[in-house]
Amino acid sequence: MTKLIIQIPCYNEEGSLEVTLSELPRELPGVDIVEWLIINDGSIDKTVEVAQAHGVDHIVNFEHNQGLAKAFMAGIEACLKANADIIVNTDADNQYCADDIPKLIEPILSGRAEIVVGARPIQQIKHFSPTKKFLQKLGSWVVRMASNTKILDAPSGFRAISREAALRLNVFNEYTYTLETIIQAGQKGMVITSVPIRTNRYLRPSRLVKSIPSYVKRSLLTILRIFMTYKPLRFFVILGTIPFSLGSLLGVRWLILFLSGTPKAHVPSLILAAILILIGFQLWMFGLVADLMAVNRKMLEDVQLRLRRLEVDSQNVKEYSSTKLVKR
Ligand code: UDP
Ligand code: MG
Repeated sequence: MTKLIIQIPCYNEEGSLEVTLSELPRELPGVDIVEWLIINDGSIDKTVEVAQAHGVDHIVNFEHNQGLAKAFMAGIEACLKANADIIVNTDADNQYCADDIPKLIEPILSGRAEIVVGARPIQQIKHFSPTKKFLQKLGSWVVRMASNTKILDAPSGFRAISREAALRLNVFNEYTYTLETIIQAGQKGMVITSVPIRTNRYLRPSRLVKSIPSYVKRSLLTILRIFMTYKPLRFFVILGTIPFSLGSLLGVRWLILFLSGTPKAHVPSLILAAILILIGFQLWMFGLVADLMAVNRKMLEDVQLRLRRLEVDSQNVKEYSSTKLVKR
């Protein structure tokens, strides 16, 4: 029995959720059960009523708005507890074409991938400005570099995730899960791939991209933080090498001057050289400490994975024994 749950994070989506739900499939090739789940991220409109009226099977409710990253993770957890084998995430603004879900889940069904990201035809999207198109491309390129994957459209929210991958995902970032999950998948050795998908007509402006400069700033900070979390030694070694090299060059210059018998002592440059070398050296030490801490994180992640498995499986055992009871 393969069960697929389509999850939709929703923040004040009464206007577009109906259209989105009306296009979602109830049957899919290769899957026995298809269920729908919404995460109500503290909406103050009729999002939940609209969802109930249109037959959504599961609703995760946040009292207050907690942001997309938290909503996404709460959805993943609820899907796992509801025994999903595959989770599909999509947007409530009907941005992604629901008819492409079979294409999105095919690599998982055939066992070729654990996470599939739907790549939008960014160049052809009419309401994206040239700046936004360029930034999306640049962002995706940076994510490809940081993650060692070949994902074409990193900020895309149209994704399919296998149960095994969902159990192992973690999101530390408060703002968005999209970039972090890709880099994490790449670094944890999960097989991640992308397939081309279509998008629909524009229903409302983006809730996440309020202005391009703040979007760029947040994305760059996110990428830096993820790099620091997942490659701490490399991050701090690169960072420390800059002041260390500058300091060394300055030190060599001072030494040459000193040996050539200059009349001035050049004390300020000697002090600066020493400070720069020390800063560089300290940053390398940070790298070592951070690397040791990353070992702890990996062990914690292992414990978390085992706990999640236990939690989810005990839920399933309960369901199983209750069905057996009914049969008797
Ligand atoms: N969303 C959410 N909480 C928030 C902001 C957005 O759950 O604080 C949901 C929103 O309802 C939508 C999805 O996240 O279903 C993606 O948001 P949006 O379409 O505005 O982002 P974009 O597609 O522009 O990246
Ligand atoms: Mg959207």
